[in-house]
Amino acid sequence: MPAKIISGNAVAKSIRNDCKERISALGRRAGVVPGLAVVLVGDSAPSRVYVRKKLHAAQEVGIVAHLFEFPSNVAPEAVLAKIDELNADPRVHGILVQLPLPPQFSIFEVLHRISRDKDVDGFHLYNVGGLVVGDTIFPPCTPFGVMKILEHENIPIEGQNVVIVGASNIVGKPMALMMMQAGATVAVCHAKTRDLAQFTILADILVVAAGVPGLILPQMVKTGCVVVDVGINRLADGRIVGDVDFEGVVKKASYITPVPGGVGPMTVTMLLSNTITAAEKSTMAPI
Ligand code: NAD
Repeated sequence: MPAKIISGNAVAKSIRNDCKERISALGRRAGVVPGLAVVLVGDSAPSRVYVRKKLHAAQEVGIVAHLFEFPSNVAPEAVLAKIDELNADPRVHGILVQLPLPPQFSIFEVLHRISRDKDVDGFHLYNVGGLVVGDTIFPPCTPFGVMKILEHENIPIEGQNVVIVGASNIVGKPMALMMMQAGATVAVCHAKTRDLAQFTILADILVVAAGVPGLILPQMVKTGCVVVDVGINRLADGRIVGDVDFEGVVKKASYITPVPGGVGPMTVTMLLSNTITAAEKSTMAPI
């Protein structure tokens, strides 16, 4: 039997409805409207598309979102000064700096300048550390979205063999930590892994985030495996595909996420959720 194709759009819609309810409750309880500031440096076309999607999604659920744009040759000090200003602005609950940044920037310097209470992307060292010890406020949006997809489909994680292909700071590594926290046995593969298939074949849940179209073939997955394809690749003919050979793997897996329409909409949705969490926390007395 072919796999159930999980609609990330449907899961995202249900979480966005929850977001709207949380915003209404926050307004009633504390008179606060969540605010998101997005900082965009340069004119990369994909970054502009991502930023537009984030701003639109934020406004659609009732978050006040503002875009702050800088030319690609801007001095880093100007962006850091803007972050300082946003850190101090009580109307702004979440700050997101769209990556990548031009080469004159130290990404870590920029990310660590964001107040840890407004770090809705979850990239500040404080939040990364929270993830390591299993107590983070802002889980990074893409792996957080993967966890929500599995939860929505009632797919158990505890005791499962989870294999993650890709070990980046924004997807693979935080994904591994979240899966470990949920009780999975985790293997992380990357570009230097020898014989990828000997790992992927053991997976009860396979999460792929490598950025290599067609990397995962049907013979590399176990029958009944849950396959989550995080990859987003644009082919020469303009098509957008993931990292998994969808047509082949769908026949063997029990569940699979499509590209597009799988993890992508969840990433933006979890950014909204983290921004609302930041606003909710801003109304609570510090412990
Ligand atoms: P990255 O380039 O930072 O990291 C890629 C990782 O994959 C690295 O750890 C690398 O070692 C590994 N890798 C590369 N080739 C491999 C191979 N042949 N075999 C095994 N491992 C290999 O990328 P990233 O930012 O983590 O993104 C990965 C993919 O996920 C990209 O396609 C990106 O567009 C996509 N992505 C999607 C979303 C979403 O919302 N759906 C969010 C972030 C990234």
